[in-house]
Amino acid sequence: AHLDRIADVDGQVNAFLHVNAEEALAVAAEVDAARAAGEDLHALAGVPIAVKDLIVTIGQPTTAGSKILEGWHSPYDATVIKKLRAAKMPILGKTNLDEFAMGSSTEHSAFGPTRNPWDLDRIPGGSGGGSAAAVAAFEAPLALGTDTGGSIRQPGAVTGTVGMKPTYGAVSRYGAIAMASSLDQIGPVSRTVLDSALLQEVIGGHDPFDSTSLTDPFTNLVEAARLGNVAGMKIGIIKELHGEGYQAGVENRFNESLELLKEAGAEIVEVSCPNLKYALGAYYLIMPSEVSSNLAKFDGVRYGLRVLPKDGPMTIERVMAATRAAGFGDEAKRRIILGTYALSAGYYDAYYGSAQKVRTLIQRDFDAAFAQADVLISPTAPTTAFKLGEKLDDPLAMYLNDVATIPANLAGIPGLSLPGGLADEDGLPVGIQLLAPAREDARLYRVGAVLE
Ligand code: GLN
Repeated sequence: AHLDRIADVDGQVNAFLHVNAEEALAVAAEVDAARAAGEDLHALAGVPIAVKDLIVTIGQPTTAGSKILEGWHSPYDATVIKKLRAAKMPILGKTNLDEFAMGSSTEHSAFGPTRNPWDLDRIPGGSGGGSAAAVAAFEAPLALGTDTGGSIRQPGAVTGTVGMKPTYGAVSRYGAIAMASSLDQIGPVSRTVLDSALLQEVIGGHDPFDSTSLTDPFTNLVEAARLGNVAGMKIGIIKELHGEGYQAGVENRFNESLELLKEAGAEIVEVSCPNLKYALGAYYLIMPSEVSSNLAKFDGVRYGLRVLPKDGPMTIERVMAATRAAGFGDEAKRRIILGTYALSAGYYDAYYGSAQKVRTLIQRDFDAAFAQADVLISPTAPTTAFKLGEKLDDPLAMYLNDVATIPANLAGIPGLSLPGGLADEDGLPVGIQLLAPAREDARLYRVGAVLE
């Protein structure tokens, strides 16, 4: 049914870069046979899933949304893919994204933008717009995303789906093509909080192939999502993350969710995280610095595309330059150049060093806030989905979309975006974000289940 739905609507939505029909159907048939034989199967066995094309898979291309990887096939599976296969979840295919996950609208993909199923003239968020749109358009019941600065949560917000960024280290990054390694995290995209919890339990857990992987088991998530209880909990409104600059319809739905939580027995308090005003600035230094380092391996020698210089000497530097000039899009080039500059001798301390200090201040702000509240709450994004092309030529306007999602990545804490209803002005989905202390992913599912 999902493959049929993809055939019907994906010509318009463009959520998928690759559809893996044959293998998905074979896994589904295997599950049917196992079920008929009375085998004990995982709760999600046979439930199809779409995978963001930043995560490597054997048997399917992985492009990272970039021309530089066109034609490349991974010789190994990401750890999360191995886990999906072990649970017998058919993989429907690979979803579209901004090139190397850099963007907030999926317009920076080398393979054309994905469109928002709620309004095809609008963006589905980014960078994981393909995964969110696939779930919102009923092309897939579940998807995997990656979140470095909001790329699971912001697409969730603008497509009316659930997006979870787990605690840094809760899900192995082995096989997720690195954007900014100290911020990247794989997580679930779904239509309900319980689905998200079920999927995180499948993909999470310690992995010796990822040195930042936590040893905590994270096996209490489904139970928390089933419980859904906020009685006696303190929920903290982050003063700096709503109000001025947020669309009126977003604020209205946000206030409504506070009422819902109150009715369910939570106490609403206000907390202040004064250093959050520096989060965007710190992120847009730390992230490109790591990007410039991580993307250095795409050199025309090791992976995918190789472009030879048209004339002149055939040196390794010139092959590299020709390949990178042709293979990377504008946004990837912009960030590589910014990051290389920020890391260069003489600027390193002023830019990268200061940004790392701000990161520590933000972590301390969150520590203080979590001493006053169990969970923090804010809108996920300042506005509903904007029009395709609206911010494409204005990188700074595009970056401002991430103001509420970036702090969680800088602090390594989990963040969950939930559908909060539709904005009055435009009838488009609004996202509500919940944040919890590191390792308290279960708490987000518990509160999220009350709000949905
Ligand atoms: N929009 C953010 C950026 O462009 C987030 C990216 C992400 O989370 N992968 O950096």
